[in-house]
Amino acid sequence: MKNITISQIIEPKLVMEGAGVLLRRSFGPHVSNQHDPFLLFDHFAFNNPMEGPLRGFPMHPHRGIETVTYMLEGEVSHRDSLGNAGTIGGGDVQWMTSGSGILHEEMPRRGPGGNIYGFQLWVNLPAAQKMSAPRYQEIKASSIPVVEKDGAAIRLVAGTMDGLNGPVTEIAAAPLYLDVKLATASKFICPIPSGHSVRAYVFEGAGEFSGQLVESVSMVAFNADGDQLEVKSEAGVRFMLIAGAPFQESIVPYGPFVMNTAEEIQQAIADLRSGSFVK
Ligand code: FE
Repeated sequence: MKNITISQIIEPKLVMEGAGVLLRRSFGPHVSNQHDPFLLFDHFAFNNPMEGPLRGFPMHPHRGIETVTYMLEGEVSHRDSLGNAGTIGGGDVQWMTSGSGILHEEMPRRGPGGNIYGFQLWVNLPAAQKMSAPRYQEIKASSIPVVEKDGAAIRLVAGTMDGLNGPVTEIAAAPLYLDVKLATASKFICPIPSGHSVRAYVFEGAGEFSGQLVESVSMVAFNADGDQLEVKSEAGVRFMLIAGAPFQESIVPYGPFVMNTAEEIQQAIADLRSGSFVK
């Protein structure tokens, strides 16, 4: 077994999105596609009145991507052009495959402690699936298995660990999506499928990732040069671990659309204007 090595440590930047929602963005969609198959990683945290009123994300379209919302505290009410509506609460996951297109609204609500804390990841779709039928996987917290070993507690959302499968399945990028909490003085070794892109978002505490100390809050990018990730922590650490198979296709991002060519972006805009966006 060989440990993957760190390629870059990214400090998330504060950005405004939706109707004035302050987010910590580690990366966003870009033609360079350097996080392939991942396109965007946002961390939203409202735990301070200085962050202003909650306005959320009014009705907006998506095409060609998957959006993954994972809440730790507070909730997100959502509804969409397909008639789906619901609430993503603490510990729940919504894995939304936009395919050819959906319009949806995402409105955060504070939890009992007054806080909102969650993550949104965008995963690319391969060219062959960009115009597929939209699909949702709504997973309640109680359906997410927790693997506990050697001071690690791992919530397994997608992928396989110790013979257990995460509840999110049939995703083109064959992802691993884990919420990992390490107790003080613990070590965690995670097998990584060969060639997968690996990213770790460290949001509490600090740990040694591949021999290098990383403090929260940081996004760590790794090289695809090994088959396992080793994390050690003296003080305790919590991070989201994402891994996925890169598609190695050129992309053209435009706001909430990510397609492969400029013509496909023009088509998405034309479909939206003509009212034929939702198939
Ligand atoms: Fe959205």
